[in-house]
Amino acid sequence: MKPELEEALFAIQPAWFDREDGMRSSMNFGFAVGDGWAPLVERLLMAAKERGFTRENFEVIQVKQKFGGLRFYVRGGDEAFGNLVREAERESYTTCETCGGQPASLVRPRNWSRTLCAGCAATAVAAVAAQKATIKPR
Ligand SMILES: [Zn+2]
Repeated sequence: MKPELEEALFAIQPAWFDREDGMRSSMNFGFAVGDGWAPLVERLLMAAKERGFTRENFEVIQVKQKFGGLRFYVRGGDEAFGNLVREAERESYTTCETCGGQPASLVRPRNWSRTLCAGCAATAVAAVAAQKATIKPR
Protein backbone atom coordinates (compact mmCIF):
# COMPACT_ATOMS: atom_id res chain seq x y z
CA MET A 1 0.00 0.00 0.00
CA LYS A 2 1.16 3.54 -0.73
CA PRO A 3 2.84 5.08 2.35
CA GLU A 4 0.51 8.10 2.43
CA LEU A 5 -2.59 5.87 2.38
CA GLU A 6 -1.10 3.67 5.07
CA GLU A 7 -0.24 6.61 7.33
CA ALA A 8 -3.79 7.99 6.95
CA LEU A 9 -5.17 4.63 8.14
CA PHE A 10 -2.78 4.43 11.11
CA ALA A 11 -3.74 8.01 12.02
CA ILE A 12 -7.41 7.04 12.56
CA GLN A 13 -6.28 5.72 15.97
CA PRO A 14 -2.52 5.14 16.39
CA ALA A 15 -3.03 3.49 19.78
CA TRP A 16 -4.59 0.41 18.16
CA PHE A 17 -1.36 -0.59 16.44
CA ASP A 18 1.97 -1.85 17.70
CA ARG A 19 4.32 -1.04 14.83
CA GLU A 20 7.51 -1.92 16.70
CA ASP A 21 7.11 -5.32 18.32
CA GLY A 22 6.99 -7.94 15.57
CA MET A 23 6.44 -10.71 18.12
CA ARG A 24 3.25 -9.14 19.41
CA SER A 25 1.77 -7.89 16.15
CA SER A 26 2.45 -7.97 12.41
CA MET A 27 1.68 -4.28 11.96
CA ASN A 28 5.42 -3.61 11.64
CA PHE A 29 4.74 -4.78 8.06
CA GLY A 30 1.98 -2.18 7.72
CA PHE A 31 -1.29 -2.89 5.93
CA ALA A 32 -0.16 -5.72 3.64
CA VAL A 33 -2.89 -5.27 1.04
CA GLY A 34 -3.24 -3.31 -2.22
CA ASP A 35 -4.40 0.31 -2.38
CA GLY A 36 -7.76 -0.85 -3.73
CA TRP A 37 -8.71 -2.28 -0.37
CA ALA A 38 -7.82 0.84 1.65
CA PRO A 39 -11.53 1.88 1.70
CA LEU A 40 -12.52 -1.52 3.19
CA VAL A 41 -9.84 -1.16 5.90
CA GLU A 42 -10.84 2.46 6.53
CA ARG A 43 -14.48 1.46 6.94
CA LEU A 44 -13.53 -1.07 9.61
CA LEU A 45 -11.28 1.36 11.48
CA MET A 46 -13.99 4.06 11.42
CA ALA A 47 -16.52 1.51 12.75
CA ALA A 48 -14.09 0.62 15.55
CA LYS A 49 -13.74 4.31 16.36
CA GLU A 50 -17.53 4.80 16.43
CA ARG A 51 -17.78 1.88 18.84
CA GLY A 52 -15.33 3.66 21.15
CA PHE A 53 -12.73 0.91 21.23
CA THR A 54 -9.56 1.82 23.11
CA ARG A 55 -6.07 0.34 23.34
CA GLU A 56 -7.30 -1.58 26.42
CA ASN A 57 -10.04 -3.48 24.56
CA PHE A 58 -8.95 -3.45 20.93
CA GLU A 59 -5.80 -3.98 18.91
CA VAL A 60 -5.21 -4.63 15.22
CA ILE A 61 -2.79 -7.54 14.92
CA GLN A 62 -2.52 -8.16 11.19
CA VAL A 63 -4.04 -6.97 7.93
CA LYS A 64 -3.11 -8.94 4.83
CA GLN A 65 -4.26 -10.62 1.67
CA LYS A 66 -4.58 -14.40 1.81
CA PHE A 67 -5.87 -16.63 -0.99
CA GLY A 68 -7.14 -13.51 -2.74
CA GLY A 69 -9.15 -12.21 0.22
CA LEU A 70 -8.75 -9.57 2.91
CA ARG A 71 -7.81 -10.82 6.37
CA PHE A 72 -8.27 -8.39 9.25
CA TYR A 73 -7.11 -9.86 12.56
CA VAL A 74 -7.74 -8.13 15.87
CA ARG A 75 -7.56 -8.73 19.60
CA GLY A 76 -10.72 -7.69 21.39
CA GLY A 77 -13.55 -5.78 19.76
CA ASP A 78 -17.05 -7.24 20.03
CA GLU A 79 -19.38 -9.56 18.18
CA ALA A 80 -20.97 -6.84 16.05
CA PHE A 81 -17.54 -5.65 14.98
CA GLY A 82 -16.59 -9.23 14.13
CA ASN A 83 -19.60 -9.33 11.81
CA LEU A 84 -18.42 -6.14 10.08
CA VAL A 85 -14.99 -7.72 9.58
CA ARG A 86 -16.53 -10.81 7.98
CA GLU A 87 -18.65 -8.58 5.74
CA ALA A 88 -15.60 -6.58 4.57
CA GLU A 89 -13.63 -9.79 4.02
CA ARG A 90 -16.48 -11.14 1.85
CA GLU A 91 -16.64 -7.89 -0.10
CA SER A 92 -12.90 -8.04 -0.78
CA TYR A 93 -13.46 -11.04 -3.08
CA THR A 94 -15.35 -8.82 -5.53
CA THR A 95 -13.24 -5.65 -5.04
CA CYS A 96 -10.06 -5.11 -7.07
CA GLU A 97 -7.13 -5.03 -4.66
CA THR A 98 -5.21 -2.69 -6.98
CA CYS A 99 -7.77 -0.03 -7.94
CA GLY A 100 -10.86 -0.78 -5.82
CA GLY A 101 -12.98 -1.37 -8.94
CA GLN A 102 -15.91 -3.77 -9.05
CA PRO A 103 -16.57 -6.38 -10.17
CA ALA A 104 -13.31 -8.16 -9.54
CA SER A 105 -12.51 -11.83 -9.36
CA LEU A 106 -9.76 -14.21 -8.41
CA VAL A 107 -6.90 -14.43 -10.90
CA ARG A 108 -3.50 -16.05 -10.70
CA PRO A 109 -1.12 -14.01 -12.88
CA ARG A 110 1.83 -15.70 -11.20
CA ASN A 111 1.67 -18.43 -8.65
CA TRP A 112 -0.27 -16.43 -6.12
CA SER A 113 -3.96 -15.56 -6.04
CA ARG A 114 -5.04 -11.98 -6.49
CA THR A 115 -8.45 -10.36 -6.72
CA LEU A 116 -8.45 -8.00 -9.68
CA CYS A 117 -10.86 -6.23 -12.02
CA ALA A 118 -10.62 -7.05 -15.74
CA GLY A 119 -8.37 -4.05 -16.50
CA CYS A 120 -5.89 -4.67 -13.67
CA ALA A 121 -5.89 -8.42 -14.44
CA ALA A 122 -4.93 -7.67 -18.08
CA THR A 123 -2.12 -5.37 -16.88
CA ALA A 124 -0.84 -8.02 -14.44
CA VAL A 125 -0.89 -10.75 -17.08
CA ALA A 126 0.92 -8.48 -19.59
CA ALA A 127 3.58 -7.66 -16.96
CA VAL A 128 4.22 -11.36 -16.33
CA ALA A 129 4.40 -12.03 -20.10
CA ALA A 130 6.87 -9.15 -20.57
CA GLN A 131 9.02 -10.50 -17.76
CA LYS A 132 9.05 -14.00 -19.27
CA ALA A 133 10.02 -12.54 -22.68
CA THR A 134 13.18 -11.02 -21.18
CA ILE A 135 14.38 -14.43 -19.95
CA LYS A 136 16.58 -15.85 -22.70
CA PRO A 137 16.21 -19.56 -23.43
CA ARG A 138 19.37 -21.62 -22.93
ZN1 LIG B 1 -8.53 -2.84 -10.87
